[in-house]
Amino acid sequence: MNYRHAYHAGNFADVVKHAVLARVITLLQRKEAPFRLLDTHAGTGLYDLASDEALRTGEWRDGVGRLAGAALPEPLAGVLEPWLAAVRAANGGDDLLVYPGSPMIATALGRPQDRFVFNELHPVDGDELAARFAADRRVRVTRGDGYVALRSQLPPPERRGVAVIDPPFEEPGEFDRLVGAFRDAAKRFATGVVVAWYPIKDPAAVARFHAALAGSGLTRLLRIDHWTRRVGAEGPLAGAGLVVMNPPWPLADELSSVLPPLADLLATGPGAGCRVDWLAGEKGAGRDGGDRRPA
Ligand code: SAM
Repeated sequence: MNYRHAYHAGNFADVVKHAVLARVITLLQRKEAPFRLLDTHAGTGLYDLASDEALRTGEWRDGVGRLAGAALPEPLAGVLEPWLAAVRAANGGDDLLVYPGSPMIATALGRPQDRFVFNELHPVDGDELAARFAADRRVRVTRGDGYVALRSQLPPPERRGVAVIDPPFEEPGEFDRLVGAFRDAAKRFATGVVVAWYPIKDPAAVARFHAALAGSGLTRLLRIDHWTRRVGAEGPLAGAGLVVMNPPWPLADELSSVLPPLADLLATGPGAGCRVDWLAGEKGAGRDGGDRRPA
């Protein structure tokens, strides 16, 4: 386990992942009934943007650094507002000193009746995570493999909720494990929302993952891909994606309109773009909406 999120916190991929997650949470909160959020690969929950790791890569500057405090057009500003509010809350204002991870974003937006299970395998990161949330009675921190946590925690007692699966992709077979996780989640918690993240480094591997999901018999799978420059070019990660199962309405329509301007704001080179479409389910609805392949 070499992956440390501190090097990447707040980068372009975190921006889209966390903006979508924050929006999912606020859409679920249109109902008073509580929900439970399970974060299978939770990290530490909060990252110092002046740490050695953050300074070494500077990735956050081309991510949250481009958006926090920027004058954003509508409807992008409205869709990003829950995520930006969580970033401001973590910083106690507009200055960008720290970046909140998915657990901190979820709890910042969570209500007293909502519940959170944060799972982390890395012993040091797990200790930091547990200490950070020790005083929050809505939160339980667990240690162990994230996919085992998914199977043991679903369905949640509230029968409403979100599973966030954000693995480090440092071991072979992660795409296969993600497909298995979607199957497990659908079997145990058919109406639950699942948000899974993946890097777009090897387009053929990503295409096989998408084909496996599209042919899995699962329904209501929304694909959200974005890239900051042409994929396949040398250098650091150029693109990332999310598959969201059972996205709450109207997430798909919202993302179809705001992902293109967001991808423009995050672009670092020629060939930047995005696509939002359905891998499965909701025939025809938005199937090609927002699709902007690189020229
Ligand atoms: N979800 C976090 C966020 O958005 O703020 C970032 C998570 S980071 C991409 C992946 C995390 O998974 C790392 O903290 C790593 O230590 C942890 N990890 C690695 N292997 C794991 C496993 N098998 N089960 C659970 N966590 C694991």
